[in-house]
Order: sequence, then C-alpha cells, then structure tokens
Amino acid sequence: MGSQQETLLVVYRGLIRSVIEYGSIAYDSMGDENKRKLNSIQTQALRIMCGAVHGTAAAALQVDTGEPPLQIRRLQQQIQYAAKVKNDDNHPANSVFKPRWTDRSKKYTANTDPIRNKVNEFFRQNSSLNWQIPTLPSRAPWRRKEIKVDLSISQAGKRMETVNSLARMQMDKYKNCLEIYTDASKTTEGVTSAAFFIPALNVTSAVRLPDKLSIYSAELLAIKLSLEFVSEYSLSSNAGDGIVIFSDSLSSLTAIKTAKYVCRPNTLNGIYDIVDNLDADVKMVWIPSHLGIARNETADNLAQLDTMYNTADIESCLELRDMHVHIQNFILAKWQAMWQSCPTGKFYKKIEPNVSFRIKYENKVRAKETSVTRLRLGFCCTNEYLYKIKATDSDKCLDCECCVETIDHLLLRCPKSNLCNKVLDACQRLNIKPEIEFVLKHVDILDVICMNIKRRI
Ligand SMILES: [Zn+2]
Repeated sequence: MGSQQETLLVVYRGLIRSVIEYGSIAYDSMGDENKRKLNSIQTQALRIMCGAVHGTAAAALQVDTGEPPLQIRRLQQQIQYAAKVKNDDNHPANSVFKPRWTDRSKKYTANTDPIRNKVNEFFRQNSSLNWQIPTLPSRAPWRRKEIKVDLSISQAGKRMETVNSLARMQMDKYKNCLEIYTDASKTTEGVTSAAFFIPALNVTSAVRLPDKLSIYSAELLAIKLSLEFVSEYSLSSNAGDGIVIFSDSLSSLTAIKTAKYVCRPNTLNGIYDIVDNLDADVKMVWIPSHLGIARNETADNLAQLDTMYNTADIESCLELRDMHVHIQNFILAKWQAMWQSCPTGKFYKKIEPNVSFRIKYENKVRAKETSVTRLRLGFCCTNEYLYKIKATDSDKCLDCECCVETIDHLLLRCPKSNLCNKVLDACQRLNIKPEIEFVLKHVDILDVICMNIKRRI
C-alpha cells in the first residue's frame, strides 16, 4: 500500500462510492440492516485510506478524510434533486414535492418518510432563497451571432513585463471600439459584487449581488450587466469598430467562448441573447488583473467598494448550481451536529472538533502519513492496544516498565524515553501546552515525533 491518502480517496470516490451511491435518492427508504452493510464498506475503505488499525471509530475516520457519513450524503443528493425539480412545473416528478393529505394521517419512521419531508428542513430554513432552473436558449447555437473571445494573453507565460506589454498592445488594438472593463469581487465572508466601467462615456456602475455566489458567477454577471447597460441606452451607435469587453476572469470568458457550461447556463444564454440583438460586433479580451492599468483597476475598486452595501441589489439571480453552496453549508452543519453528539471517537474529537470536506493530515511520505494519522485517531500500535488485541503479553511501557503505554505516555509522560524529552523540548520552543490534543495538532511537533520515534507505530 504505497499510495497517498489523496490518491486513495480519488480511487474510493471513483470506483467504490459511485457504485454504492447509485440510486441512493430512491434507496434511502430501505431498512437499517442494508444501510449498515453499506456503511461498513465505507468504513473499510476509509480505514485503508488512513492506514488506520481495527477498532478506529468510523465517525473519526469520516472527519479525518473529509468524507461525510453516507446518510448525510444521501440527504445532500436528495436536496440537490429537490432543488432541481421543485421549481420546474413541467418536470414529471414535480408532484412528488407537493404536500399531500397522507402527510398528516400516516405515521412515518426515519426510513419510510417521503422525500419531500426529508428535504423540508432545508427549504424551510432557506425560504428566502429564490433560484432559477436551467432554461433552453432562445435561439439555436448555430444561428447566434459570434462573439470573438481573445484569450491569447493567458498563454503568454508568467513574466510580468511580457504580460503587461501584451495587455497594453491589446488595448491599443481595440482603441476604436467602445471599451468596457468589468470585474467582480468577493470578500472572505462571501459577500459578492459586480462592476463595470466605460471610460469613453465616464460611466461607472457597481451592483451588490446575493451572498455566497461564486466568483465565476459574479464575473459573468458583471459582463451581462455591462451588455444590458449598452443595450438599454443604445450605446452601440457610439461604437466605431464595435464593443470590446476587458475582463480578468479566464473561466467566464472560456465559458462564453466554448459555450460549455455547468454553472450558470441562464446567464450565459442571456449574454448570447443581448449580443444577438445589438447592432455592433462584440469582442471580449482577457487581461490579467492587478497590472496597474488604471482603467482595469477602476472596475476592480468599484467592485470592492460595493461589497460594503448591506443588501443585494439584484435579488433573484441565483441559478441551480449556486444553490449547491447553500446545500453544502446546510449539510456541513448537520454533520457537525452529528459529530458533536457522537459517542465514539472522543480522543480524535479533541484534536479535530470541526468537520470539513478536506483531508486533515497529508504527507508525501506514506509511512509518516499513516503513523501520524494513527496517532491522531487515537488508535495505534502502543502496547496498550497490542495487549488488547492479544498481540503482546504486557501493556506496560518498555522504557520505564511501570506505566501502561498509552499514546499520552508514549509521547509526553514517560520519564525515561528520549522521544518524550524531544517532544517536550519542542513544546517549550514553540510555546505550546504539553497536552496531547495540542501536540497532535501542531505540524512541527508531528515532524519531531516522526523523526524520533523508533518503532513502527
Ligand atoms: Zn514509559
């Protein structure tokens, strides 16, 4: 087993999880016994990933690898499905999510509860959210007017001077066009805004968008808003050689160029429609941000300023994919509550009290990765554990021969061990309390442990 945790996670997701979760929206109503069987497959896979020993709590393995419990994942998929179907009156499964008289008369168990009851909590909590389902484009793709998208600067390499001069050359090339600069911004709290700037007309505009929108969505909306402005005030007559939009978002321009999209199909179709109805040519050019180009920076500053407004200017511009962020947050909160009340994995809970979707400890050296993960999970080959599984005759520490060799004793409390001295020294140097939960949290101390531990743990 020489692969890293990350690689093994990819293998698990691709080959195992995809199989055991196929159709999980429907089979969520099956009995506990069958669900337990699936859970044990997940636990086994995660244990191999971590290199953990038998007896490690499944809940701890899930938190360590960032893989939510299967029941939570099923709920996430059910909510995502409901979000897709609920707002679409033409969807054949739409009526499944409508209230029924049986909801009041029948008594359901956790397993037999209909899907609409299971997803209800999320939609009750997020009742203010308004989202659109994907619609078909109003015109066939081959009848649309072409938008020329120039991404050439993105291939120019990383040298600042080259990129800078290329960007200026591009701007020079389009100097007879009506120039528009767009930008979007997102704060760490998830507040987003979009802005555009038309230097020739001295027009600046910034709009606060709904929270937690992806930066890609915000950039795309900035482009759409600028085009809406141009179309509304019939500015295309001012444009000599057409309209040129400079944006620093490679992902949105690529989406416009290729028309391959998963995130915001409606916004993209909206952009195509506006361009179709304009009587000028539209070009789009990618220029990197923060080059010190005054016009570009203006749009950037505008967007940042606008995140300070309290409420969103555009209310109903969430699309189906944007809902996934809200669903993910809901799921994370559910998982967190489960982890907090979980009776197993107490040792690991002190080290990782919060759940997230990332792997908690990674290292390129597999042996080190498993050793550290085992120590953090609280189950490893100490004499205490080996005695419990009847692999040794004594649970005592071999150095001092008087105490039971627990992880705490092995790393911090043994008076005669060289390892403990080294760990305690490191704690003092880094000003960390010599308690097991702090020691196993700190990357530098984990390195010290790995360097000084003599046996395979
Ligand atoms: Zn000892």
